[in-house]
Amino acid sequence: MRSVGVYEDFGVRPIINASGSVTRLGGAPMSAETLEAMTAAALQCVSLEDLQAAASRNISARTKTEAALVTTGAAAALTLGSAAILARLDLGRMEQLPRVLDGRCEIVVSREQRNGYDHAVRAAGGTLVEIGFNEIVANAGVRRPEPWEYAAAIHEKTAAVLYVFSPHSAPPLAEVVRVAHERGVPVLVDAAGELPPCHQLHSIAATGADLIAFSGGKAIRGPQSTGILCGRRELIASAALQMLDMDDHFSLWEPPTDWIDKRILPGIPRHGIGRGFKASKEQIIGLLAALAQFTPERCREHAEKCLGHLQQIERALRDLPVTCTILAGTTAEILPKMHVRLENSTDALDACRRLRHGEPGVYVGHALLAEQTLVINPMHLNEQDTQLLIGRLRAEIMRT
Ligand SMILES: *Cc1c(COP(=O)(O)O)cnc(C)c1O
Repeated sequence: MRSVGVYEDFGVRPIINASGSVTRLGGAPMSAETLEAMTAAALQCVSLEDLQAAASRNISARTKTEAALVTTGAAAALTLGSAAILARLDLGRMEQLPRVLDGRCEIVVSREQRNGYDHAVRAAGGTLVEIGFNEIVANAGVRRPEPWEYAAAIHEKTAAVLYVFSPHSAPPLAEVVRVAHERGVPVLVDAAGELPPCHQLHSIAATGADLIAFSGGKAIRGPQSTGILCGRRELIASAALQMLDMDDHFSLWEPPTDWIDKRILPGIPRHGIGRGFKASKEQIIGLLAALAQFTPERCREHAEKCLGHLQQIERALRDLPVTCTILAGTTAEILPKMHVRLENSTDALDACRRLRHGEPGVYVGHALLAEQTLVINPMHLNEQDTQLLIGRLRAEIMRT
C-alpha cells in the first residue's frame, strides 16, 4: 500500500502506524475484499432506507438484537442512541433536541466511567448525573461503584443509564441492567473498542442492555468512519429517523416496515439531530463486508501473524539497551502487543517525537512514555513496514 503515492500527490507523507486502529492515524487497515465491496457499492445507487434495513437484518443476526443501524462511528452511535432515548418516537421531541423541554434528560453514569467520549451523549441533550466515587484511583478506599447507587440516582427526570463496557467495569453490566429496568429506565452501552473477542458482538446484548454502540473502524476493520448501534427495535427506529434524509412525502415514503413501522407515526420528522452523521452506501457496504470477515478464525490468524512481526522486532533489538516484553492478548483473538522499555538515558518522549519526525515517520503507542516505554501495536504491520520500523527503532534508540 505504501507505493500507491496518492498521499504524496497531495504533499502528505504516509507513515508507519505502530499504534493500532487509532482515529488520529486513520483507523484500521481494510482488507482487499472490503475495498472491492466498497468500489462495487459506489457504482450503483440504492435507497438508503432499504440498504440500512438490510444492514439492520444482517447485523441484528450477528448481535442477536432486534434491530441495528450503521452509524458514522461509535461516538455518532452514542449521540444517536441518546437522541433515540430522549425523543423515542415523539416527532415533537425529535424536533426540539438537543433541548428537552420537560427536563427528562438525566443520564446516570458511574464517575469511574466518565471519559471524553461522553461528550457524544451530552451533544444529544443528555445531562450526565454521576454516581459512585473513584476511590481506588484516589487511593482513598477499596470499593467500586455499587448497584444501589445507580438505583438511588434514578427518578422521574432520569432518561437512561450510560455504561462504558470494559473488562474492568464494575458492577457487571447485567446487574446495572437489572436495577435500571426495575425502575423503567433503558441502558445505553459504549462498547466501542470491546471487540474482539467476537462473541461480545452478542454477549453484551444478552445482558438485556437496550442499545449498544460499537466502532466499525477498530478491530472489525470496516471504514474508519463507521460504527454500529444495535438493540431495541423502537429505539433503533427513532435513531434512524433522526439520522436519515427525511425529505419525502408521507404518502410516498415506504421505509421497510420491519425496521421503521410507518403505521405508528403521525408523519415524517424534519431532518434530525443526527443528519450530520450520514453513513454513505459505500460505508454501509464496507462495514457489512468487514463484519462478514470478522470471525474468531480470522482474528486468531491475524494475531499469530502479528506475533511473528513482534518476535522479529524483538530479535532485531536484542543488542540494544532495551527490555522488550511481548504481551499476549487476553484471548487468542486479541492481538499481542510489545513494550519496549528504554534502559539508557534516552527520554521516551523525545524518542517518540524523533520517531514521528524521521523518514519514514513512525508512530508508536504513547500510553506508557512516563514509564520510559514505547508500545508497539502490530495491527498495521506487514513484512516491509516491520523492516522499516526496525531500522527506525534501532537508529533512534542508539542515538543517545
Ligand atoms: C474509540 C472509542 C469511541 C469512539 O469510537 P469511533 O468509532 O471512533 O467514533 C467511543 N468510546 C470508546 C470507549 C472508544 O474507545
